[in-house]
Amino acid sequence: MGLFDTIEFPNPIKCKECGTEITSTQTKMFENILNHYNVGDILPKYVVTGILKETVYCSHKKSRKKGSWDAEIYIVVWNNIFIDVKEEYEQAEKRLRTFSHADLFLLYRELYNKRNEFRYKFNALKSWTENYIEYENMSEEEKKELLKEKHSLINYHMRRFAKKMIETEYPLDVFLEELENREGYDISFIF
Ligand SMILES: [Zn+2]
Repeated sequence: MGLFDTIEFPNPIKCKECGTEITSTQTKMFENILNHYNVGDILPKYVVTGILKETVYCSHKKSRKKGSWDAEIYIVVWNNIFIDVKEEYEQAEKRLRTFSHADLFLLYRELYNKRNEFRYKFNALKSWTENYIEYENMSEEEKKELLKEKHSLINYHMRRFAKKMIETEYPLDVFLEELENREGYDISFIF
């Protein structure tokens, strides 16, 4: 078997036999280092504009049907950039023929927003973890002291954090839920 890479589909492909939505496929076309390629990524080795043929596979694991299903899929590459996956060659050909710098701009704007959202959430997670470590290293007296209002602004963040820690039985669950629902600020207008 050996190693492979994974191509993540921009849209899931449905298994024609059991209906399972397949979101990626393995490939040996690139470097075989367990890399994951998403739309917008630059593909290694190749300096191409064209269409690469790969296979999508379903083992019917979810439906417990017998046998398996596979089909050809077509990876669209534009100036070395992975831009799409299509189930029909004609669709891939059309996508490639009509793809322009304007499409690239829209694609990267979307990715840029995703990057910002990820960074925003990462920073929130990092700051929560730092607060958590600081809180855990405090003595019981210091924790009690923190909950008193007298320090107003100085310990504002830590006090808010400490309150949350004692209010809920599972603060990590609460934080993860909060993080999941947190809306990153949209700065797409910069583009
Ligand atoms: Zn299936």
